[in-house]
Amino acid sequence: MHPESLVRPLVRALHPYVPGEQPKIRGLVKLNTNENPYPPSPRVLAAVRLTVDERLRLYPNPTADALRAGLAKLHHCRPENIIVGNGSDELLALATRAFVEPANGAATWRSKSTVQFFTPSYSLYPVLAEIQGASCRPVPLGENFALPTPTELRRGGQWDFAAALTFVTTPNAPSGRGYSPGELEKLCRAQKGVVVLDEAYVDFARENAFALALKYPHVLVARTFSKAYSLCFQRIGYFSGNPALIGAMHKIRDSYNVNGLGQAAAVATLSDLPYYRVKFRRVIATRQRLTRELENLGFNVLPSQTNFIFARPPTLGAEEWLHKWREKRVLVRWFNSPATKNYLRITIGTDAEIDALLRAARQILQ
Ligand code: PMP
Repeated sequence: MHPESLVRPLVRALHPYVPGEQPKIRGLVKLNTNENPYPPSPRVLAAVRLTVDERLRLYPNPTADALRAGLAKLHHCRPENIIVGNGSDELLALATRAFVEPANGAATWRSKSTVQFFTPSYSLYPVLAEIQGASCRPVPLGENFALPTPTELRRGGQWDFAAALTFVTTPNAPSGRGYSPGELEKLCRAQKGVVVLDEAYVDFARENAFALALKYPHVLVARTFSKAYSLCFQRIGYFSGNPALIGAMHKIRDSYNVNGLGQAAAVATLSDLPYYRVKFRRVIATRQRLTRELENLGFNVLPSQTNFIFARPPTLGAEEWLHKWREKRVLVRWFNSPATKNYLRITIGTDAEIDALLRAARQILQ
């Protein structure tokens, strides 16, 4: 017997998501997965330490009540408007399962089984569609990764205004481009299905569209503690929106989907937001300096509203730069698709890390 024959054909054929490299060796300048270069607040570290005792034998709170109450206070909404997940990735998957029908041949109205998103954006979305057995509808962003208007989308003829689920990464990844709440609202108003505004990087941006999740019943906003709140390790993300949609996601999640140490860390994070705001400003200042210095070296750097930049290198191709930087122990990210292959995505590190990246760049150019 071939054990593979026991696996569902859909799963056998699946193209899984490929995360950025988490190197085993130490001492690399790691600018490849958009982690925050600064540690969590001392209050968060203390809260996690205080939670590590014999209580580890108990299940955590199944509904992350303290965290949801804290988030509701922060966003001036009710805990019923919030679901917390094992990173926002889990919630993106839950949304796909809750709102999108698998495509069963002719039986389903096509839009009901459509997951739609712009390209380039987060490369997890097509994987989630595939896992669900849904149809995947990638639609290119405009020039310089601009968000197309509904009129442009109508004219383009590719966009499905009735798609069951539409993911919008805002600010965009990997380009770093920010979108205004006004343009996002126009898009949301034109959609009949669920729209998830994936604001993973929004704390580094000028504006956010959180209000749309409370204004429109079909709009959900996704946030994470991974990037701005230095908590990748603990896996905490959340969705906000109408209780009917949020409630549907609660119904299908694991009973204890958010680990106890993560809940403690996230609650402590909310008690020390000024600490993080100082760090946002530092990341933004470093982003501005890196942009300026790379431009001086001949890179074309797109304006960024995130904790990374998207830059087109001079003289050599982007893939060659990836390898050359790697030889000099600097890790950045390259995405091999037509719209992205000429660029590198560089996470904003500490000033010392950015100095190391720039030093290596000067050597490569010599
Ligand atoms: N959305 C986007 C656009 C991302 O880049 C990421 C991080 N890879 C996530 C969501 C997921 O973040 P997490 O699961 O760590 O909350």
